[in-house]
Amino acid sequence: MSETKKSVVEEIVNKAKIAELSDEEKELIALEKQSKELEVQLKQQQLEAAKLEQEERKFHIKDLKARLAERELTEKQRANDLAQRAAGFRQEEANDKFRWNFCTHKKGGNVSPTDMKVLHFGGNKEQYAVLKHMMINGDIWVLCLRCGKTWKPPVETSFFFDEKGQNCAPQDGKFDKVKFEKAQFEYMQAVNFNTNNSMSASVQCRFTTFDPQSGKNVDATDVYRENVRDTTLR
Ligand SMILES: [Zn+2]
Repeated sequence: MSETKKSVVEEIVNKAKIAELSDEEKELIALEKQSKELEVQLKQQQLEAAKLEQEERKFHIKDLKARLAERELTEKQRANDLAQRAAGFRQEEANDKFRWNFCTHKKGGNVSPTDMKVLHFGGNKEQYAVLKHMMINGDIWVLCLRCGKTWKPPVETSFFFDEKGQNCAPQDGKFDKVKFEKAQFEYMQAVNFNTNNSMSASVQCRFTTFDPQSGKNVDATDVYRENVRDTTLR
């Protein structure tokens, strides 16, 4: 039997069957048909929702990419700023060192509108153009009023250098005894600079710390010096 004939026959049989069905059974069949239609509708809706979700994800990824790109730009900008600031700082440091080297730290000298060198490189009188200040722990710090250099008791932890000769933290390098002693010598010289400027002083305090080994308070001047090692009078 061909397919068409078969389906026609089936249809007749079905119709006959339907005719034989009770009202209740007919209703059941109608309900089933309805439920199948609903199922198809639901699946279509689900498919639609899935498509929309995918679309949404695409936009989300696009947004995310845009935000990441923006952040990358900000970070690059920040790194740039930092590098520029570091370069500025190094330049300033180099200028300071240059002035400190050439300054006589002395009073006197002539200043003219065309030549103000004396203000930054010192004069030629006997007296030194320095201020001496006694810090809270009794240390004397000396400030050159011309070049701005500050002398203070050197702290050992500032004299560690790495293989490239760069100043570094104690755990990353070696202690340079020669440089440390040179700084100590220069500091003593500065304390003895002859000046008629009077010395100023802070309130004087003793710094102590509790030593658990001896159970006593011991001198903590080193701790104080350590804390102010990067400070100057300028
Ligand atoms: Zn000076």
